Amino acid sequence: MARIAIYPGSFDPLTLGHLDILRQATALVDEIVVAIGIHPGKVPMFSFDERQAVIAACTAELNAQVRVIAFDGLVVEAARTAGATILIRGLRDGTDLDYEMQMAGMNGVMAPDVATVFLPASPAVRPITATLVRQIAAMGGDVSPFVPRPAADAIRAKLAARQPQRPQED
Ligand code: ADP
Repeated sequence: MARIAIYPGSFDPLTLGHLDILRQATALVDEIVVAIGIHPGKVPMFSFDERQAVIAACTAELNAQVRVIAFDGLVVEAARTAGATILIRGLRDGTDLDYEMQMAGMNGVMAPDVATVFLPASPAVRPITATLVRQIAAMGGDVSPFVPRPAADAIRAKLAARQPQRPQED
């Protein structure tokens, strides 16, 4: 039977940290369902379609099938709908661990058939967060050390589209 894992998050946009976890997960499962959480009231930098396109471009070379879905409720419900029995979470530090242990415990009560698997961030990508990537990019910084190429291109295009139009010269 194919082993299917769900990997939930915002992925706004996909970073080298997310990609590191996806790469590690391919050694464990046959298919990874990247589940993009849609939070009403929170305005993301990228639409679902834009985030999906970046993830597809960055995971084409991985040795596992990768599917991207959206969800707006419980992760365990999204896991059941996707047919996943493994829930992947990346751990950056002890703060992640404390919070993730609580979530894993409560998810385990709600869905005993879905096992949480923690994967440690590789040292080089440990400090990366999508929130800081968005902030650095908005202030004109170079985010290419932190995100895969398709994500850097998408950020550049998004910021260029946001630039106010120069007044027409006569
Ligand atoms: P969330 O708001 O759920 O943390 P994110 O999109 O930030 O959503 O992260 C999704 C998952 O990716 C989480 O399991 C998170 O721990 C993991 N993750 C995020 N950044 C990194 C990183 N730099 N290294 C390893 N894992 C990461």
